[in-house]
Amino acid sequence: MVSVSEAEKIILSEKRDYGTELVPFEQAMHRVLAKDIATDRDLPPCNRVTMDGIAIRYAAFERGTRSFKITATIAAGMAPTDISNDEECVAIMTGSALPSSTDTMIRYEDVAITNNIATILTDAVKKGQNIHLKGKDKKQNDIVVKAGNIIDPALISMAASVGCTMLDVKKLPRVIIITTGDELVMPDQAPTPYQIRSSNSFTLKATLQQYAVEADLLHLPDDLDLTRNKIKDCLQQYDVLLMCGGVSMGKFDYVPQALEDAGVTRLFHKVQQRPGKPFWFGKNEQGVLVFAFPGNPVSAFLCLHRYFIPWLFLESKVDCLKSKVYAVLDTDVTFNAPMQYFMQVKVPLNELGQLTATPIEGNGSGDFANLLDSDAFMELPMEQNEFKKGEVYPVWPFKKII
Ligand code: AMP
Ligand code: MG
Repeated sequence: MVSVSEAEKIILSEKRDYGTELVPFEQAMHRVLAKDIATDRDLPPCNRVTMDGIAIRYAAFERGTRSFKITATIAAGMAPTDISNDEECVAIMTGSALPSSTDTMIRYEDVAITNNIATILTDAVKKGQNIHLKGKDKKQNDIVVKAGNIIDPALISMAASVGCTMLDVKKLPRVIIITTGDELVMPDQAPTPYQIRSSNSFTLKATLQQYAVEADLLHLPDDLDLTRNKIKDCLQQYDVLLMCGGVSMGKFDYVPQALEDAGVTRLFHKVQQRPGKPFWFGKNEQGVLVFAFPGNPVSAFLCLHRYFIPWLFLESKVDCLKSKVYAVLDTDVTFNAPMQYFMQVKVPLNELGQLTATPIEGNGSGDFANLLDSDAFMELPMEQNEFKKGEVYPVWPFKKII
């Protein structure tokens, strides 16, 4: 049996690199960028006006000129039209390119227009005002996003702005979720009173989809030979096997035996934690990783979030262990077992904007319905039995909490 931190260390030392691939930027959400993105031109690409109004040459204003003849109207996207002398101006709209013969723009609110003559109504005019200068945000070839970032809407916006329509991203592991158990039927089948529907396959698959990982599914009965053979096949075709069930002490818990028979070396079996104690982890000679979680739905769910997702994040610049989320316990809690306890909690914000943690009592690791009412697991240290209101501990969210 290993501690949670030992288990974490063993798993996170198994970093993998599956190479890179190009994907259309619109389909790249949640992927890890593999190559820096640079600008293809200055941002903005021209001197761009930021309001609707008129553009003048400031020297004329400085000499006291207040009325200017409008000689052209420039809309966004048009090539700019120049003025030919200081007494002229152009009407110009937000987002348009400023003519190089002008240098200052005055918004319509400060101008009166009659008979095509614009009169400036204010003295508060500064040279160069209301102009977003070419290259002010970024210069051509500047790196705007570094490799290692996780692709999010802001990054997609930047990729679109610089015309980077194909993004180089890290390849994701090929994952299969293998559930086991004679008592399980698929959700679209009618269970006998002694059977249950398999939910884990779908919970795990749906969770992985949030990280852009598409997993295949396989269900196996509790049969040692079949399990061994299927594991052997899967080790050829996948980078990661996420298994569920059959890793405890039961007479039909064949998974550890089948894995070892199939050439997977155990790196640990059993973690000093609740839920999820029977968790088994190993790898074969080719480096295929096997996370074999207990079948209890809450255990499998906790193990996925606590161990597999941080492993997946090793590919990115985001160290989800360093950027742990913490919450303030809002009540006293006692937990006497010599185990690290992952307590289901709801994590509302208090009036100071801090995350607080309210324990949600369930009926143990089989009580999956309880997860509907909670937002996260709070990780309570093994060394303590008493946890006091006001104390702060890490939480592992499985819902959007803010
Ligand atoms: P096991 O780890 O195989 O002993 O399973 C522990 C408990 O989890 C048993 O009550 C199983 O019926 C249940 N269980 C195992 N696999 C699944 C699954 N895929 N979906 C829902 N419950 C499961
Ligand atoms: Mg079982």
